[in-house]
Amino acid sequence: PVRVRFAPSPTGNLHVGGARTALFNYLFARSKGGKFVLRVEDTDLERSTRESEAAVLQDLEWLGLDWDEGPGVGGDFGPYRQSERNALYKQYAEKLLESGQVYRCFCSSEELVKMKEIAKLKQLPPVYTGKWATASDAEVEQELEKGTPFTYRFRVPKEGSLKINDLIRGEKGLSIDVLLLRMCDSVLKVSWNLDTLGDFVVMRSNGQPVYNFCVTVDDATMAISHVIRAEEHLPNTLRQALIYKALEFPMPQFAHVSLILAPDRSKLSKRHGATSVGQVFKAVIAFSSRLIIGYSTSDSSYNVCFTLIIQYREMGFLPQGMVNYLALLGWGDGTENEFFTLEQLVEKFSIERVNKSGAIFDSTKLRWMNGLHLKALPSEKLTKLVGEQWKSAGILTESEGSFVDEAVELLKDGIDVVTDSDNVLLNLLSYPLHATLASPEAKPAVEDKLREVAASLVAAYDSGEIPRALAEGQSGWQKWVKAFGKSTKRKGKSLFMPLRVLLTGKLHGPEMATSIVLIHKAGSPGIVAPQAE
Ligand code: GLU
Repeated sequence: PVRVRFAPSPTGNLHVGGARTALFNYLFARSKGGKFVLRVEDTDLERSTRESEAAVLQDLEWLGLDWDEGPGVGGDFGPYRQSERNALYKQYAEKLLESGQVYRCFCSSEELVKMKEIAKLKQLPPVYTGKWATASDAEVEQELEKGTPFTYRFRVPKEGSLKINDLIRGEKGLSIDVLLLRMCDSVLKVSWNLDTLGDFVVMRSNGQPVYNFCVTVDDATMAISHVIRAEEHLPNTLRQALIYKALEFPMPQFAHVSLILAPDRSKLSKRHGATSVGQVFKAVIAFSSRLIIGYSTSDSSYNVCFTLIIQYREMGFLPQGMVNYLALLGWGDGTENEFFTLEQLVEKFSIERVNKSGAIFDSTKLRWMNGLHLKALPSEKLTKLVGEQWKSAGILTESEGSFVDEAVELLKDGIDVVTDSDNVLLNLLSYPLHATLASPEAKPAVEDKLREVAASLVAAYDSGEIPRALAEGQSGWQKWVKAFGKSTKRKGKSLFMPLRVLLTGKLHGPEMATSIVLIHKAGSPGIVAPQAE
């Protein structure tokens, strides 16, 4: 049976790379009718916190990636926190000691440093050359009696090679062009010569097992069938594979997913994220006002893209948009189609279609993707979301009602992320009728032809004709426009263009009748009409 796991280290919030790994595991499990296990890797006691764990779980829940076993839901293979599995690690470490695949190493840290220095001088690989690999029982006994601290060291075969079959990389590892691109990063292979590895520590002198040992014991005892994780773990995979063999555990299938790259093709890391509150603020403004979409190379202060899931959540991105975008970072169904719900992803996903080369994180595309999902929401949901946004932004005093209904319907095409809706509405309302009409002459851009229409408009407004027509809604307005066209002998473009420019200040915009009625309504209580600039 298919059993996969996502194994976050709870040392901070969930980042986009981790979220994509979790998603691929989830999709693989769901598409194969398998189980998706969540395991918390909190062996780094100094950096792990329960707050981080809670935050990561919350982000996964927000994305809709529910797990079948793990914290909060339990399961037959628990406990699901590494910090609670120490006895198990100890048990397997002892087993390896008994079989001789692990030995006690009493070297002091000074001795180890010296060994490394000598190896470096001789330009040899930093393999363990101490005596404890071959020490006699009597020598060991002697140190034990003295109480000398010791580590458990894994006896790596001195020759031969090891190869894993990777579901994404095959047996060859990365293709050569990608390797060149990464400056021949030789750690990204899937086969290794063992003579350069050296005997590595599996348990420290304080009895604390090391990371690679824990992961192997966990994956094996949790009956994990497929290990899907980021390619940066490949050097760990080598060590883990050796431990699998030594413990005679069946080897899982591996699938190492390529990195997510920043637009400059470097590894997407925290330094691409906003590093100060000020930067976050600037970037949020840039994001929501669309002054700058995504990356700008010319202005480094905007050279920020968010790396944490929580940042997108707080900016008003939808989990549906986020999930869809993350899935496309390295995967596609082979057609032009890019819009997928989580259910559709489960249906279409296959690990063989996951790309070997790095995927570039493109925040412009993420916004667009989010927009597709926003517009695909049932209209009541979209209206509720946008209405609440307007209310919380202080533009409206009520989050629902006919104004909200009509405004959302009119403006939704211009909204990709719910926070955009602030500017979209303010943009519409920033041209209140009375302010515009009171001083059309003040607009120097108004041409003579417009001036003519403007004069008649002002007269119609002052006489109360326009406000009366608008009070009757769209049909009132349409009737009035017809009459106005007749009296000014204008029709078609020569009628509507000047009306639009004079009444909204813009050449283009959403449907005129709805806009104008909404602008008029914005003068009513409940709507805080912004001042014209
Ligand atoms: N805990 C590791 C991490 O957060 C993942 C280990 C694994 O997937 O094997 O990167």
